[in-house]
Amino acid sequence: MSDETSVEMMYSELHDHAAEQFSEQELALLDHAFEVAEQAHRGQKRSSGEPFIIHPVAVAKIVLEYGMDCPSVAAAMLHDTVEDTALTLDDIRREFGDEIANLVDGLTKIGKVPLDIKDKEEQQAENIRKMLLAMSEDIRVIIIKLADRLHNIRTLNFVEAQKRRDKALETLEVYAPIAHRLGIRAIKEELEDRAISYLDPVAYKDIEQKLAAQGKSHKEFLETIKEQIGERIRKVVPDATIEGRIKSVHGIYRKMYMQNRTFDEIYDIYAVRIIVNSTIECYDCLGVIHDMFTPIPGRFKDYISTPKPNMYQSLHTTVLGKAGIPFEVQIRTWEMHRTAEYGIAAHWKYKLGINGVQKFEERLAWIRQLLETQTDSNDVHDIVDTIKTDLAPEDVYVFTPRGDVINLPVGSTVIDFAYAIHSAIGNKMIGAKVGGKIVPLDYKVQTGDIVEVLTSSQPGKGPSRDWLNIVRTSGARTKIRSWFKKERRDENIVEGRAILEREIRRSKMHFSDEEYAKLVAALTERQHFLTEDDFFASLGYGGITLSKVMPFVRDEYHRVSQMERAEVRVVDSQKSEKHAYGDGVVVDGIDNCLIKLSRCCAPIPGDEIIGFITRGHGVSIHKRDCPNVPQDPASCEEPERWIAARWRSGDAARDFKAALTIECEPRVAFVADVAILLGDMHVMINSINTRKGKNGNDFVYLTITVSTTDFLNSVIAKLRGIRGVVSVMRSSG
Ligand code: MN
Repeated sequence: MSDETSVEMMYSELHDHAAEQFSEQELALLDHAFEVAEQAHRGQKRSSGEPFIIHPVAVAKIVLEYGMDCPSVAAAMLHDTVEDTALTLDDIRREFGDEIANLVDGLTKIGKVPLDIKDKEEQQAENIRKMLLAMSEDIRVIIIKLADRLHNIRTLNFVEAQKRRDKALETLEVYAPIAHRLGIRAIKEELEDRAISYLDPVAYKDIEQKLAAQGKSHKEFLETIKEQIGERIRKVVPDATIEGRIKSVHGIYRKMYMQNRTFDEIYDIYAVRIIVNSTIECYDCLGVIHDMFTPIPGRFKDYISTPKPNMYQSLHTTVLGKAGIPFEVQIRTWEMHRTAEYGIAAHWKYKLGINGVQKFEERLAWIRQLLETQTDSNDVHDIVDTIKTDLAPEDVYVFTPRGDVINLPVGSTVIDFAYAIHSAIGNKMIGAKVGGKIVPLDYKVQTGDIVEVLTSSQPGKGPSRDWLNIVRTSGARTKIRSWFKKERRDENIVEGRAILEREIRRSKMHFSDEEYAKLVAALTERQHFLTEDDFFASLGYGGITLSKVMPFVRDEYHRVSQMERAEVRVVDSQKSEKHAYGDGVVVDGIDNCLIKLSRCCAPIPGDEIIGFITRGHGVSIHKRDCPNVPQDPASCEEPERWIAARWRSGDAARDFKAALTIECEPRVAFVADVAILLGDMHVMINSINTRKGKNGNDFVYLTITVSTTDFLNSVIAKLRGIRGVVSVMRSSG
């Protein structure tokens, strides 16, 4: 068969496939794109000797298979024309319009690295930056780019050895993590498997052979299991779909070579997948599976209640089958399945409409944020590190005994866990229990572990120097070092200051700097200390407790805020908050009066509220549980000044802005994590600012738009789960 006919056949196959979903007009456009690309690339050959046009057609085919729209498929067809042929971007724009031209432009830019950059790592950093930039402008560019890389790596055999290794490494370090981040499982796995086959061909062959040797028994094993499971599951969930598969070579490779296990020790070779219609059915199926087979302890993961950052949701459990062969069971709904397979591409494939597209684009706000935080950094290696860490897919989720989730990198120990909760807990740590059993301090935590940190109440206790060699996170290492660097007394002073400030913030009290200085002086005197440092040191190691200090602090605050109430902020006048919060409040028995939301607790619709008649400044609205509101307003000093207030009906469903202050231990990519989390929850960010606190921690000040207090509370709860977060407060903005 001649080259021309094989190209024609390839394209007509693509055309037929496209005809199933595109209109006549779109098909005509696609035909035109093929003609233009074919003409432009005529005479060019790939390293394999085949005509070059095979490559763009193949890329377009992958893009089509992922359900992408017609402009994406056309752009894929044209993606190499501007860079490699006589055609210019203007030609493309004239022939195909702005949308396709912009996609092609994005794809062309990614490949081009400035000539003055010689260092390979710098080149890679530059490339990643460009990809993120393109991605933030139009996510379709990255999906086409991934398809381009997928086809290239499928056909790397003919490329010279060194270049092959470079490409494979870049694929593993950059492209596969991006595919993972976007949740496109099939592309991620194929990229990884192919990259490994070039980077470590011997090991790859070895795994392939081992899998092949068991090939027939694999199939039989999976079939029997599927049958057994199907029989039982369908009694509970009649229309459950059951699939079986052998996991990716790269997954097995990682476990064998990075975790040092033998082939036989790997549980994840077989996976059975159960797909159902509702979340409830997922848990029903889990019950059936655990009833049928013995679950392996510690291998159950509930990614439904705690989704992965890329929105992946499923229940995972590993159980023992017949003859003691372990296998993993993944249980999910169809919707979760689509997200798991196609990730971000799912919204084209499943036609979520323009709103769906926008929602997804909003989720990508983190990329823009990441780029913005990177512009200050001149060191390109920093950028690569940050991006790689940020894209690093493997985190473990560990629980505190109270059920809070702490997110740590793989390989973290119980010491990292303790420091991730709080440096004071790490410093006082003497041991740890996992699942109720004492473990050594170098125990590596696993997803699903419930870890209890044992602390010493003796003030003299501190971390041990050996811990520096055990911990995995830089956060823990920094804190241990700083403990040794400083005198213990200094540590206690800092801690004491933090304890007081945190408690004041937690109680939603606000002091000006001057008021705060007066307060501290008064406290020092009352507690009979000579200097303020003595007072804080004592508070820091627990010599005096908060419960002894706080009543006085509260009294002082009430005294100070009596004066301050007169200065309550008028929210309505704020230019950014035109929709007049005060308008949404109804105060019993009073019309036409100035209503302001108090600055101390900044109530939002949905909060229980109460009004306070100020002298000459209208009514200020407080949250019912604001520390400024007496427990029982009817029997306080001036009961007549407290009046009932409520939100105008209908307002509770309107969107409102809420200001939050997040304190986090300093670490890389924290802001990105916040942005990703909010993006994942579809929360709009109005503003985000960061500042270094006096205690060395990072503070993020953020305004978000939310619809109800309940939702806001769930956002706050999720934010608290981010690794390193010390506190999340609602602030007055
Ligand atoms: Mn290409």
